[in-house]
Amino acid sequence: MPHPSPFPHLPIPSTDLWTLLFNDTTPRPFPPTKEILTCAQTGRSLTWAAIRDSSLAFGRGLQSLWGWSQGDVLALYTPNSIDTPLVTLGALWAGGVVSPANPLYTTDELAFQLRDSGAKALVTQLAFLPTARRAAQAAGIPEDRIILLGDEHDASARFRHFSHIRATTGAGKYVAPSTDDLAFLVYSSGTTGLPKGVCLSHGNLVANLVQCAYVEGSQWSAVGGADGRGDKQLGVLPFFHIYGLTCSVLMSVLEGWQLVVMERFDMERVLQAIQDYGITFVYVPPPVILAFGKHPLVDRYDLTSLKVLHSGAAPLTRELTEAVWDRLKIPVKQGFGLSETSPVTHCQTIHEWAKHMGSVGKLYPNMEAKIVDEEGREVAEGEAGEFWVKGPNVFKGYLNHPEWTKEAFSDDGYFKTGDIFRRDAGGNYYCVDRLKELIKYKGFPVPPAELEGLLLGHADVSDACVIGVEDKAQATEVPRAYVVLRQGVAASEAKEKELVEWAAKQVAPHKKLRGGIRFVDQVPKSASGKILRRLVREEAKKESRVA
Ligand code: AMP
Repeated sequence: MPHPSPFPHLPIPSTDLWTLLFNDTTPRPFPPTKEILTCAQTGRSLTWAAIRDSSLAFGRGLQSLWGWSQGDVLALYTPNSIDTPLVTLGALWAGGVVSPANPLYTTDELAFQLRDSGAKALVTQLAFLPTARRAAQAAGIPEDRIILLGDEHDASARFRHFSHIRATTGAGKYVAPSTDDLAFLVYSSGTTGLPKGVCLSHGNLVANLVQCAYVEGSQWSAVGGADGRGDKQLGVLPFFHIYGLTCSVLMSVLEGWQLVVMERFDMERVLQAIQDYGITFVYVPPPVILAFGKHPLVDRYDLTSLKVLHSGAAPLTRELTEAVWDRLKIPVKQGFGLSETSPVTHCQTIHEWAKHMGSVGKLYPNMEAKIVDEEGREVAEGEAGEFWVKGPNVFKGYLNHPEWTKEAFSDDGYFKTGDIFRRDAGGNYYCVDRLKELIKYKGFPVPPAELEGLLLGHADVSDACVIGVEDKAQATEVPRAYVVLRQGVAASEAKEKELVEWAAKQVAPHKKLRGGIRFVDQVPKSASGKILRRLVREEAKKESRVA
């Protein structure tokens, strides 16, 4: 029998994101003048009403300049800023779809996403303009469709600034999208292969916000502040990833949390911002939890405002949770999610984090899950198997790839996550392993097939397999390649260094082969030629035990 969520079934409004966030008839527990977005560096702030008005003006500008209409894709290639949410929400107002990309992507990586998503325009910042221009050119996006964000203006005035678009006059018209219309196209590698566009609809996002608001929103009120009005989140997660987009940006606008936005992660600045702004909670990946537990600088700051740390995106060990509690007496709770589920499927509650350390919590409201064996049969309670899930936040499919979409769902309509879970009798779930090929470096996805393809393009390499190996000291996996060299090419430390550096130049920094290269005689393969990654992973585990 599939397991339903233990939470009550929630009514999910049949509406689009803009209407959910800005509908004037919905009573909200905070005034329109409530500060929501604050730049950690400059202190510049935007109220809820300013976010609504600026986003709307930007959306109108898109419509009057380029006839923006239903389904047109706006790509983002920018670090976090308090204006990123405005272009995101503005494009939604204009009926568009937003496709955010990692600002550290190389030209080829960005060009792939621009082409694949069919982006009509691209938002970036001055420092990222050279790569953005090359990628836009490769994807056939005209230069006058590159929009600049940020305080630094282009001296040549060749590129339109976000503020110019916002100031463009024109009536514009809001046509509410249907709940099935796309809102976001985020890129993930899914269970196999190269990055693919995950189609998230308005209905998916509205559902996940309502689910999060029930579990997280009510929870903050239980922790302090009558209704979350007093809560302040540090916005350090990247907004281009669905974890930051939903849990930081959209949830703050919905719940009235103040989001203090940081451009990038830097532990000292994180600590400074917590102290200066009286931050009450943060969403982060496990390496940041590690830093709270072990980093020497932590002792120099006043972190008494922090009520809870929330970890997601990669596995969090019980030891890390305990290390933070022992040092700071701050609860660390864990959640779980995927791009394909908008993203949250599980979250520990503040009342339960200490009782079930290591768990990702209970299944979110309105969801139903199964844990199955290789034949798709449910395993006995307490046993491990693949986690399959159904719910209103589960994505519509992979863009332009119906065959991958078909593979991702079971015949009875469950999304097959590729993660190995265990569930205890109390309904607490534990993520114990990964069936799929994905590697996560500090929460950032590294698709091994992409690195393998890259290595195979090197003249000295005849075969390659990339897996994730544990780096305990950093609380993360790191990608490592197992490489078969071409006949006549000798394995050496110098060759390893050469290949690692060669690969590093062609990919975003999180995809670097930080786990090094092992030279092998062959890569284990099945009769059909599929890499037997499990065997390589077992070898790596043995090696780490010997070391
Ligand atoms: P993404 O689509 O980039 O959000 O990556 C989703 C994947 O991240 C999941 O399928 C898991 O493999 C991994 N993940 C997310 N949260 C956790 C967690 N709390 N523990 C273990 N793995 C996680």
